[in-house]
Amino acid sequence: MKILFLDQSGKPGGAELCLLDIAKPYSDRCLVGLFADGSFKDLLQQNQIPVEVLTTGQIQVRKQSSLAQGLGSLGQLVPLIAKVVQKAHNYDIIYANTQKALVVGALASVFSRRPLIYHLHDILSSEHFSQTNRRIAVTSANRCASLVITNSLASKAAFIAAGGRPEITEVVYNGFDPKIYHSHESEVSQMRQQLGLDGQFVVGHFSRLAPWKGQHILIEALAQCPREVTVILVGDALFGEQDYVQELHNQVTALGLENRVKFLGFRSDIPLLMAACDLVAHTSTSPEPFGRVIVEAMLSARCVVAAKAGGAIELVEHGINGFLVTPGDPQELAQVMTTCLKEKENTAVIANHARATASQRFDVTNINQQIAQLLNKKFVIRNYLNYEL
Ligand code: UDP
Repeated sequence: MKILFLDQSGKPGGAELCLLDIAKPYSDRCLVGLFADGSFKDLLQQNQIPVEVLTTGQIQVRKQSSLAQGLGSLGQLVPLIAKVVQKAHNYDIIYANTQKALVVGALASVFSRRPLIYHLHDILSSEHFSQTNRRIAVTSANRCASLVITNSLASKAAFIAAGGRPEITEVVYNGFDPKIYHSHESEVSQMRQQLGLDGQFVVGHFSRLAPWKGQHILIEALAQCPREVTVILVGDALFGEQDYVQELHNQVTALGLENRVKFLGFRSDIPLLMAACDLVAHTSTSPEPFGRVIVEAMLSARCVVAAKAGGAIELVEHGINGFLVTPGDPQELAQVMTTCLKEKENTAVIANHARATASQRFDVTNINQQIAQLLNKKFVIRNYLNYEL
């Protein structure tokens, strides 16, 4: 089966890193079409996955765009859709990995008579998307997609609540290669030394810097923790959230935490950095659609404390393979951080249990098999044949 993957982003966010793993088995018979140039293209090339940037002009529609703004971008989209239609003739399936990719892929699937798969990595709720955007996504998926893959039960529920068709929707979690998350002790201690973390209880936060990812909640919690607790913030503002980055720096200064918070920027050595932590914090203030960092922490055998909402609830069992706290509550988070510092043995037991179960549950080979089975399912083929008749 030849697949034309579509993704709007030039930067490697969670959806893109997930796509990288999905595309790998198809590297000899797929193309990833991107709507922006950037480091994600380089990452795909490093992994020998064919990639082409299909447009260089930025598509002006944003998550909170109105109908007028959406319509205003149509002129920009027409040449892109034409290009995708032309490409799609060489592939069996169009696989849209983001919302703009869905809109372009939906129209291209009609004109090229190729079935459309939509991989939904978002919670389609008012917290994340304007009503117009939600309507466009749901209508495009309902009318044109043979299959909608959602990255969690939470994403599925939000899609259906927004009017999405349940009968075309299947949940598939993100897959990971557990081997990548086994770091050598010597490398880990070298990394801790390099970062000046020796003797500290290190709490890591791994995410792009954006208000809803809640880095400010972690900084506030840190101010209530013993002095040996240090925070590393790994990630950068990927989508223009520079004001928030400045606010975080101001907050650190205002709380006198300059020596206890390190901003490491975007990094590609996540497994080693996770291994250099004692605890990983996930602090999203709005429901997280899946939460790759939560699973990555588990695979690294590092205890994780996550905000209790969205996909995180499906990943973490409180006190069994991690901890759950009320989103946006720094006091509760500080309590868990302090408990983990004081009860290191229990924390290690939880972390080891998490690694063992996550290695099975999220193994990329099994997850890719699930996706292959769904793609091969009769209804996709039947749809394709219907188109051909
Ligand atoms: N990540 C990364 N470098 C960074 C920060 C984050 O590679 O500096 C990765 C992180 O390891 C995870 C992904 O980005 O795999 C973020 O995915 P998640 O589902 O947590 O959030 P999303 O970006 O999809 O909202």
